[in-house]
Amino acid sequence: MSSPILAQSISPQTVGNALRLMRHECRFKSREVTALNRAALNLEACTWQYDGEALVIESASTMHQRYHVQHTGCDCKAGSAGRPCWHLAAFTLIRHAIELALTPTKPP
Ligand SMILES: [Zn+2]
Repeated sequence: MSSPILAQSISPQTVGNALRLMRHECRFKSREVTALNRAALNLEACTWQYDGEALVIESASTMHQRYHVQHTGCDCKAGSAGRPCWHLAAFTLIRHAIELALTPTKPP
């Protein structure tokens, strides 16, 4: 069982790098890029925690509301209806960021 990965352990640069990569990957799906951009913005502003499997993230619009995201989906209103939401985009973004963070980088 790994320890929880806190927001502080992933640098904004890593999230930024993941975002750039993912924008490139889904460059033909503008709706996905919009969700990604919103996720990146909200990751800076909202409290969140990722334990290696599930993401718990604060709502950007409703105080004290938290959503739970796993690879199966998100429990917010849109997510429950099977629609894509920024929480799921944030989940994907964090997973990419962690992958990048775990990849050894070449010395400058
Ligand atoms: Zn959601």
